Amino acid sequence: MSINVTKAYLPPLEEYVGYLEGIWERGWLTNNGPLVQRLEADLSTALSGARVQFMSNGTIALQVAIKALQLTGEIITTPFSYVATTTAILWEGCEPVFVDIEEQTFCIDATKIEAAITPRTSAILATHVYGYPCDVRAIEEIAKRHNLKVIYDGAHAFGVTVHGRSLLAYGDITTCSFHATKLFHTSEGGAIITMDEELAQKVWLYKSFGHIGDEYYSLGVNGKNSEFHAAMGLCNLPRVPEFIEARRQVAELYRAELASLPLRYPITPADTEYNYSYFPIIFETEQQMQRVKDALAAHDINTRRYFFPSLNKLPYHTGADCPVSEDISLRVLCLPFYQQLEHDDVRRISQLIRENYA
Ligand SMILES: *Cc1c(COP(=O)(O)O)cnc(C)c1O
Repeated sequence: MSINVTKAYLPPLEEYVGYLEGIWERGWLTNNGPLVQRLEADLSTALSGARVQFMSNGTIALQVAIKALQLTGEIITTPFSYVATTTAILWEGCEPVFVDIEEQTFCIDATKIEAAITPRTSAILATHVYGYPCDVRAIEEIAKRHNLKVIYDGAHAFGVTVHGRSLLAYGDITTCSFHATKLFHTSEGGAIITMDEELAQKVWLYKSFGHIGDEYYSLGVNGKNSEFHAAMGLCNLPRVPEFIEARRQVAELYRAELASLPLRYPITPADTEYNYSYFPIIFETEQQMQRVKDALAAHDINTRRYFFPSLNKLPYHTGADCPVSEDISLRVLCLPFYQQLEHDDVRRISQLIRENYA
């Protein structure tokens, strides 16, 4: 049986059907229904009281965030992320300016941000890669000093706490993805999270066509999500602590099983409660990575070059050189990793890696 890099958790069917019965009774399928409202309230509690708006996906959340903050010109961003982080900037007519990543967390290197700021810079958009936090305090200071907005792509960061607060509650806006492959999912879905109530009102309009009833206020798009997706979220949300604990155990087993190999891993910064959202390993060379990837594929075990390419090397948009990101992206491989992954499978995968490591 094949093993994939991620596997969506499905709650007990009866539990989901219970929510469906309510939807059938009410006949209210979308447009800020009661399940969406409940999910948003529960998420707000889980995320240190930030205002959470449930969106159709994490990509539209990024686009609406850029729009709501009225960003123009250049946006400083990370080359080591999923492609949506960069394409959202381009899609909104702004220019991504890449700043290299740091060696410990693979997040944007805050010490290199100021050198990239120009009079055209309007914001910093950085990703908490694999759930490892950006240096949120340093970035906040830089943003204040230069009057820039801060957006975090928190698609990997659900359940992470930094300095005693949800990592998703930092920045002017944090976006999240609740896609089926993520730690907490609603099949498809995402969110905009902000502590700023005025900004939240603006986001509300932007994600709902820009009007309330017959009153038209602004440009808008359809970024809403449905009762069916909210129901999946309500089933999964209470289980997140369980998911994180199960993933912690899988991660520890991998680390123990692979301890004899000279692999590198990201390092969790101090004062961080990590969520174990991915399991990336860094090989010494690209050839080693490819050899192991191919060997696992021959056993129907799928891994992912996540992230490759470094986003400053996209065929339709090239940016300045980012040597650390380019180097890491050639050597990184994400192993199969999800809370339901059997420990015997972890041992088998690790053994194959050991046997094919040369
Ligand atoms: C998954 C992901 C997205 C996109 O989210 P969708 O919900 O799939 O649109 C954006 N950024 C990062 C870093 C992601 O991992």
